[in-house]
Amino acid sequence: MVLKAIKLGFKYLLKKPYTRMFPVKDPEYITKRTRARHILYMDRCVGCRACQLACPADAIKMYRIEGDFPKNRAKIFPGIDYSRCTYCGLCVEACPVNALAMTNYTMRHLITEDKATTLYTPEMLAKPPEEEHDITLDKRTWTPPPPPPPKK
Ligand code: SF4
Ligand code: SF4
Repeated sequence: MVLKAIKLGFKYLLKKPYTRMFPVKDPEYITKRTRARHILYMDRCVGCRACQLACPADAIKMYRIEGDFPKNRAKIFPGIDYSRCTYCGLCVEACPVNALAMTNYTMRHLITEDKATTLYTPEMLAKPPEEEHDITLDKRTWTPPPPPPPKK
């Protein structure tokens, strides 16, 4: 056990440290399953608050929005504070009408800009992200990743 740990220590001692110099040098790390900024489909939202209740980070607050929303009589919609969001996707899972999805738009500007910009109102979430993006978590299309192979 001790020898194994020492061997492992030496192995990594001889390797160069790997640190991504983002955003100065390296691009962001985006995979097919990157979960980042949400999209809210306001025409589907029924204002049930299930997303808010499911959020473990207390990142979702409900906002009353005036407008013609026949499916949402209370006219309340979720807004997300990205300074709290952990991108876990539980809100998407909890939504009974698939009104929330996640994209691979990483909100990288939030890393360096004023924290006041991290609060996204329902109207902001309803707009597609400013750049090209893919939907990466949508309950209608998402299938869980396969289980890891058994340990030998
Ligand atoms: S992704 Fe997770 S942390 Fe972020 S708003 Fe949804 S439930 Fe909350
Ligand atoms: S987004 Fe979905 S879970 Fe959240 S309030 Fe609207 S319908 Fe309910």
